[in-house]
Amino acid sequence: MLGQLLLAASRSGLVRRSVSGFPLTNKVVQRFVAGESVEEARVAVERLRDANLAVTIDHLGEETLDAGAAKATAGAYITLLEALRPLGLGTRGEVSVKLSAVGQRLDDAMALEHAREICAAAALNGSTVTLDMEDHTTVDSTLGILRKLREDYPETGVAIQAYLFRSEADCRELSAEGSRVRLVKGAYREPASVAHQGKAEVDKAYVRCLRILMAGKGYPMVATHDDRLIAITELLADRFGRSIGDHEFQMLYGIRTDRQESLAGAGHTVRVYVPYGDDWYGYFMRRLAERPANVAFFLRALGGK
Ligand code: FAD
Repeated sequence: MLGQLLLAASRSGLVRRSVSGFPLTNKVVQRFVAGESVEEARVAVERLRDANLAVTIDHLGEETLDAGAAKATAGAYITLLEALRPLGLGTRGEVSVKLSAVGQRLDDAMALEHAREICAAAALNGSTVTLDMEDHTTVDSTLGILRKLREDYPETGVAIQAYLFRSEADCRELSAEGSRVRLVKGAYREPASVAHQGKAEVDKAYVRCLRILMAGKGYPMVATHDDRLIAITELLADRFGRSIGDHEFQMLYGIRTDRQESLAGAGHTVRVYVPYGDDWYGYFMRRLAERPANVAFFLRALGGK
């Protein structure tokens, strides 16, 4: 119930304006967000690299109806990728892009053009891009843009949300050789007409999608903090003869860092999703909704403790 309220608040402009105005937001930002500037993001990436973790970096920001803002977001990614180039991370330093932040709500062609520019900058780093998945109304458009991007940048990946009824079919489509799919449970508030609602149903759907991806020929990116799903991934890897190098685990910055390091220590590729930037509100509220216990942390920070 609290989770649903927090997800509703994540889309409220009024709450966004009030919360963003609190002077102590920095404490909150630091738990889940690597910083506000490119320099802070770079420092966080270097720290993770030294802990043997790969990264996918998200320039925070979502849904814009302003063509200038969409262009500025694409520019921010290009600046970020230039700043990371000297680190020589290759595929261990990719970026994650929300198409709504680069103009998808205005025009698919605009989002495609900006995403292409970001892919080109990533390719100069020997790296790539994964498209985040947003609410269910964007899935067809996102997969359409993915198909076009992959004509020039075949290694471009995409997130698929297990909670959507359609996702098993999408996983089947995307399980061919060369395809990179990040499987997530799903973080938006979706109606019962399109998505599983209960945790147990979502978890079962995740396993069905995971099975399809692990049995397929693509590169599954298993994005979860859920130990049971991590264990099932290892069982499926055995069953389908996958070696440790042909799938990876992904987790969010600041969440279960001990588990990130233990998996990496066991030889797995573990990629940390690193958000940075000042537009942290929507991202942060989704993290609270996943784990309402984090609300206590948030309130303490606002109270200066
Ligand atoms: P849960 O059942 O939510 O959590 C399992 C356990 O993990 C919990 O018991 C707890 O111990 C820990 N945990 C989980 N969340 C938190 C938290 N916020 N704070 C503290 N502990 C926590 N969603 C999308 O809709 N689109 C995307 O493009 C997308 N990209 C993602 C990329 C990555 C790398 C990851 C890891 C997640 C992404 N998500 C995305 C979010 C995802 O959909 C889930 O909301 C999120 O991962 C929580 O689900 P879970 O699988 O960790 O399982």
